[in-house]
Amino acid sequence: MLFIIAGIAAFSYVVLTVPREASMLLINGKIYPLDTDDHVAEAIALHGNKIAGVGKTSELLAEYKNVRVIDLQGKTVIPGLVDGHGHMLGEGGYLQNLDLNGTTSPQQVADMVARKIKDVHAEQWVLGRGWDQNRWQKEEFPTHDILDKISPNNPVVLRRVDGHAMWVNAKVLQIAGVSSSTPDPDGGKIYRDAKGNPTGIFVDNAMDLIDRVIPELTTEEIGQRLRYALDECAKLGLTEVHDMGVDLQTIETYKKLIENGECPLRIYAAIDYLTAQLDESKGRTNTWKYYLTHGKEVGYGNGMLNVRAVKLYMDGALGSRGAALLDQYSDDPGNRGLTIMHESQIDTICEQAAANGFQVCVHAIGDRANHIMLNEYEKILGNLPKNSLSPRWRIEHCQVLEPSDIPRFKQIGILPSMQPTHATSDMYWAELRLGPERIKGAYAWQSLLKTGVNIIGGSDFPVESPNPLWGIYAAVTRSDRAGYPQNGWRSEECMTRLQAIRAFTTNAAYGAFEESIKGQIQPGQWADLTVLSKDIMQIPAAEILTTAVEMTIVNGKIVYQKSPVAAGDSAAPAGN
Ligand SMILES: [Zn+2]
Repeated sequence: MLFIIAGIAAFSYVVLTVPREASMLLINGKIYPLDTDDHVAEAIALHGNKIAGVGKTSELLAEYKNVRVIDLQGKTVIPGLVDGHGHMLGEGGYLQNLDLNGTTSPQQVADMVARKIKDVHAEQWVLGRGWDQNRWQKEEFPTHDILDKISPNNPVVLRRVDGHAMWVNAKVLQIAGVSSSTPDPDGGKIYRDAKGNPTGIFVDNAMDLIDRVIPELTTEEIGQRLRYALDECAKLGLTEVHDMGVDLQTIETYKKLIENGECPLRIYAAIDYLTAQLDESKGRTNTWKYYLTHGKEVGYGNGMLNVRAVKLYMDGALGSRGAALLDQYSDDPGNRGLTIMHESQIDTICEQAAANGFQVCVHAIGDRANHIMLNEYEKILGNLPKNSLSPRWRIEHCQVLEPSDIPRFKQIGILPSMQPTHATSDMYWAELRLGPERIKGAYAWQSLLKTGVNIIGGSDFPVESPNPLWGIYAAVTRSDRAGYPQNGWRSEECMTRLQAIRAFTTNAAYGAFEESIKGQIQPGQWADLTVLSKDIMQIPAAEILTTAVEMTIVNGKIVYQKSPVAAGDSAAPAGN
């Protein structure tokens, strides 16, 4: 008996004197934990994949011994940045395919295709993405003949920057069997000349006619694309991406990358319902049906992968006039845009998602698409048992909102997932599409925030750059990267610094059901951190663009570091 008491006493003594355990200390930084709005700290202790402590440098140095210490030398640390809406496979595709961003004419695009054709074998498909006729002198859709001149034999498929339109050559029309007698599919449009012949432009659902004849990606190509996109995102300071539209093959590839230690950041994957349907026509497992049978996957590979959401599409995009509007386009009388999925179909999937605990993320850009979805969500969520937890259903983009729909997000419990750079890319022509009244409900971040909702921040890469600092800059300035317009486009809708940073951290974590383990720098949360060269809370907004990512840390591991450990940092254990 006496022995046991002595044992307990000795044990207690040991606990009090042995320093607490940590694997890494970051000291002398400017740290924004975001647990409250104004907390600033100096040092962080990491233990394994979690945060162990946050406080003053002197306190943490005294508390944790025998630990690797990194001197931040005044650099800024924020919770690991998250892109709440991106497309990893699409981003990776830029490596293998033609990047047509920034092109200024159809001829320039054709010249790039001509150069590419020299590198590929006869009849190989040439793919590209990024053209935008709104940036050309003649703001018109191009036609196939300019491509036919340089490529009579190689099929050429060039996606518009927003992914909602495709420009193809005559070879592709021939392979796809599309002619004047092919009807426009539901929710899609084939552009035609005066005689009714296809001009080579396919919008929204009409792109399926082409997609189904493009050779499939091999598993190896998928892995290659994902690795490229993952590395790029880690370099840009991202610790997680919400990959908005994946299939089983991509999910399996992610799992392999995670097993091989080749996945530097977390992936929150939403199953793409439209491609899941194509799966079946190709004789493959329908990804959505698979997950309805097997159930959602949460926290795969030490929290690296979640599959618990489904991505649906209500309409197209504003640039290609496919966004569904309540009233006609101001610059295209009679056109109200397109709805891509039927309401009854969306209803069925929402019911399935509710019954199986899946989050629904619906692409809705036009005010009509958003209105339909808010009604749909209100109906389904209203039928849930009274005290059930919020399923946190989301609307992706929420670009144009009818004023009376703005407060409904908060009322119904819907999360707006928005991409600040869309506003600064679209501001040059958005009012032409919408007119002076409707534009007031477009990209209306502050109007939404005032109702009490939290916006999930993202980029929609590869439509925009995945650089989250560009997103934060766009959110706080509503100016393009050249500083135009000087005081911001409709600046009353700008976010504050804190609102913008929260959109890309805490709010994105909430949108992925991760707020208890991600989104703040707090003991017990995942050690996911972004280290920046400048204090983006304080510097002039323009300097956000020249702020460098110094380090990206995911699960306690440095997955990207700009420069090797500086002199004065000790890779060796501190203390004694
Ligand atoms: Zn998207």
